[in-house]
Amino acid sequence: MPSLNYAAPTTVNEAVALLAGASGLAKVLSGGTDLLVQLRSGRVKPELIVDTKRLPGIMGIREENGGFVIGAATPGAVIEEHEALKHAYPGVVEAMDLIGSTQIQGRATLAGNLCNASPAADSVPAMIAVGAIAVVVGPNGKREVPVEQVPTGPGRTSLAKGEFILEFRLPKLPARASDAYLRFIPRTEMDIAVVGCGVSVTLDAAGVCTAARVCLGAVAPTPLLVAGAADALIGSRLDDKTLARLDAAAQEVCRPITDKRGTIEYRTRVAGVLARRTAAIAFERAAKRG
Ligand SMILES: Cc1cc2nc3c(=O)[nH]c(=O)nc-3n(C[C@H](O)[C@H](O)[C@H](O)COP(=O)(O)OP(=O)(O)OC[C@H]3O[C@@H](n4cnc5c(N)ncnc54)[C@H](O)[C@@H]3O)c2cc1C
Repeated sequence: MPSLNYAAPTTVNEAVALLAGASGLAKVLSGGTDLLVQLRSGRVKPELIVDTKRLPGIMGIREENGGFVIGAATPGAVIEEHEALKHAYPGVVEAMDLIGSTQIQGRATLAGNLCNASPAADSVPAMIAVGAIAVVVGPNGKREVPVEQVPTGPGRTSLAKGEFILEFRLPKLPARASDAYLRFIPRTEMDIAVVGCGVSVTLDAAGVCTAARVCLGAVAPTPLLVAGAADALIGSRLDDKTLARLDAAAQEVCRPITDKRGTIEYRTRVAGVLARRTAAIAFERAAKRG
C-alpha cells in the first residue's frame, strides 16, 4: 500500500506547488468531514493530503466592497455566528447550518461541501442562488469561477490539477434583496436532502420581483440553476399563478434518481413544492429589507 503524506503549507504558492507536483492523487483537506470518512472506508487513496488551514486568510469572513469574502476553510460554526453575513445572506447561512451536527459544524466548510460534489450538498444550491463566486488558485494563478461551474458530476469538479478554492465572494446586495434555502429530508435532522432549493430575489418598491435565481439540489447529477423558474418569478408579486408557473418550471428540469429516500416521481413533485415554499420565504425577507 503506498504511504500517505501530509503537508500543512503556510503560503498559497507552496500549497499549489505541492498539489501540482504530486505524481499520484493529491487531496486538499479543509474540515475533513467528507475526506476522512472516505479515507477510512478506502474510497479514496491519495498519496498526499494538503491541509490548507494554515494559509493566511483562508479561515474567516471579511466585508469587502459592500459584499462578503468567506475563506474556503471557514467552519460552519463561524459562518453561523457572523451576524452581518446572516442578515445579508440568511439563505446561505441557513443552508450551511443544516450540515451535520454541532461536531460537524465545528469543521465542515463551504469549499469541502462544494468540492466533495455530492448532488445533495446543502450549501451549494444556496450559494448558486445568490451568485457566489469561487476564487480558485493554481499553477496558472488566480481565477474567479461562478459556483455553478465547479461541480461537473457526482464526486467530480472542474478544478484542474494543482488548483484549489481560496475563498468565496458574495456580491453587494441591492435594496429589497434576500435569499432562502430549504431542504426536504425524511428525518428531522442529520440526513441527506431528497431535494434542496435555494432562491434569491430582488423586489422593487411595489414588491414586484425584478431579479431572481433559483437552484435545485439532489434532482440531477449536479445542482441545477433553473432559468425557467427565475423567469416565472420576475415581474410578479408571487400570486397563485406565479407559484404554479414556478412549480411547473422546477419540476420540468428535474432528472433525479430513485433511491431509498424517494422515487423519481416523488423527488420531482417535492422539487416543485419546495421551490414555492423557498420563494415565499425569500420574497418575505426581501420585502423587509427595503
Ligand atoms: C455525520 C455527517 C453529517 C453530514 N451532514 C451533511 C448534510 O446534512 N448536508 C451536507 O451537504 N453534507 C453533510 N455532510 C457532509 C460534509 O460534512 C459536508 O460536505 C462538508 O461541508 C464538507 O466540508 P469539509 O470541509 O469537511 O470537507 P473535506 O472533507 O475537507 O473535503 C471534501 C472534499 O472537498 C475537497 N476540498 C476541500 N476543500 C477544498 C478546497 N478549498 N479546494 C478544493 N477542494 C477542496 C477535498 O479534497 C475533498 O475531496 C455530513 C457529513 C457527516 C460525516
